[in-house]
Amino acid sequence: MQKIVIVGAGIASLTAAEALRQNGFEGKITILGEENTLPYQRPPLSKAYLTSDELPSPTPIRSPNFFRDNNIEFEQGCEVTALDRTAKQVVIQGGRKVQYDILILATGARPRPIDLPGENSKNVFYLRNFDHSAALRNALSAPEHKKVAILGAGVIGLEVASAANLLGKQVSVFEASSRAMCRVASPLTTNFVTNRMALDGVSFCFNACVNQILSEEDRVSGIRLSDGTTKPADVVVIGIGAVPNAELAQDANLSCDGGILVDSNMCSSDPDIFAIGDCAKAVNLSTNTPIRIETIHNAMLQAQIAAAHICGKPSPPISPPRFWSDLNGMKVQCVGIATGYDRIQQRPTENDNAREFWLFSGDRMIAAETVNLPTRQSKLSEALSER
Ligand SMILES: Cc1cc2nc3c(=O)[nH]c(=O)nc-3n(C[C@H](O)[C@H](O)[C@H](O)COP(=O)(O)OP(=O)(O)OC[C@H]3O[C@@H](n4cnc5c(N)ncnc54)[C@H](O)[C@@H]3O)c2cc1C
Repeated sequence: MQKIVIVGAGIASLTAAEALRQNGFEGKITILGEENTLPYQRPPLSKAYLTSDELPSPTPIRSPNFFRDNNIEFEQGCEVTALDRTAKQVVIQGGRKVQYDILILATGARPRPIDLPGENSKNVFYLRNFDHSAALRNALSAPEHKKVAILGAGVIGLEVASAANLLGKQVSVFEASSRAMCRVASPLTTNFVTNRMALDGVSFCFNACVNQILSEEDRVSGIRLSDGTTKPADVVVIGIGAVPNAELAQDANLSCDGGILVDSNMCSSDPDIFAIGDCAKAVNLSTNTPIRIETIHNAMLQAQIAAAHICGKPSPPISPPRFWSDLNGMKVQCVGIATGYDRIQQRPTENDNAREFWLFSGDRMIAAETVNLPTRQSKLSEALSER
């Protein structure tokens, strides 16, 4: 095996390349990334960047020397448009072909489109990449933009709400479900968080179905709910989830089902093609079902698993999924997967701004969530790993 090509240049891709070298792979590694920049961190895009006084620069995941030091070829602005599995080649925009022995797909995800009338109006934003974040930051920093409507109370929606609230905007969040972050955290945690955000002035409208984005002279002016109510807005942010960038795999007839299906070694239905990070759907050990997890921890772990397997080395220790979020000064952290639980236990905490919840399925603890207890996550992760 001489040549490994990695498509996509995010945290999963860089971690895989680094882990391949650490595991002793001496052949050629090529990373092909479509964005015109060094790979950068996504978490600040919806947090500190939005409130920063100056237009921030992307925060690189690794220094530029990383590629030279690890003998990794990195091509930016290089979109892969097709896979030829028979010839073992990827095709780049413009027609150039790159040969691989092993291919790793680390293409991430993109915002789920809302498909509503008015979604192309000025000052309607999605948030996935640096340009999105910079454009939203500029809109939020304009004093004439007073009212911000956020569609979707997932993690990204709440983080934008938090930033806009800190900037003194009138923020309203509209969510189709009965509570926030319902795919990733229990109601006790999410209700605690949204109640605190509401005390800071963020307005939440749950069980709300937005069916139109209103505009005047092509500029957003508000939203309309399915009951006919309209709400004014100068800026609208759509945060209704993400869809995996799985088209390359799909078009090459790899097994896909809401993500590129991979086994526990991150290997797809083609033994020479792996998929990792936000684009991959792997069987999770905690739930025993294939799921797609969109977190930094998951992207890094899957990258390390794939690299170890490719190099014939033992898999790294599997730690439970985890993520964090910063919301109105609260540090929210979750370990495990908050699904399939039948009991939630609130644990004692020393101050009233902190919370710790343990989620159980029968007698088995399957997840834990904390607010404002930053040192607890590692311990809770260890506790869950032992079960
Ligand atoms: C705004 C925001 C905030 C977040 N905050 C947190 C957080 O606080 N904590 C947390 O755990 N997680 C957070 N996440 C999630 C986390 O960033 C992702 O799970 C992680 O970035 C996934 O890494 P990845 O490498 O799989 O995909 P990505 O980071 O999406 O990288 C994939 C790359 O592949 C490129 N690509 C796609 N198709 C092609 C192609 N055909 N050819 C070439 N290149 C291609 C894409 O342009 C992209 O650069 C956040 C995500 C966002 C968007």
